[in-house]
Amino acid sequence: MSPFVLRIDAMATTTATNDESIVEECPECESTTAHDVSVQILTESADSENAAYSREPYRVSVCQTCGTEERIRMNNA
Ligand SMILES: [Zn+2]
Repeated sequence: MSPFVLRIDAMATTTATNDESIVEECPECESTTAHDVSVQILTESADSENAAYSREPYRVSVCQTCGTEERIRMNNA
């Protein structure tokens, strides 16, 4: 059993698409590459029985070289 499930909310209303490329380090490329960065609201649930979903903003960056996606939770509460 996975301790928590993270999935993209299909009903996400935020479309924070910007065309800005941000250069940052990619662990796959092992170098700094251009990334597509956006903010997405993802639904996370700690326990499916509990159905206590919380929606948290995540900073999602996708490496434009290899396509690796990294998600960093913005709200560190
Ligand atoms: Zn990469």
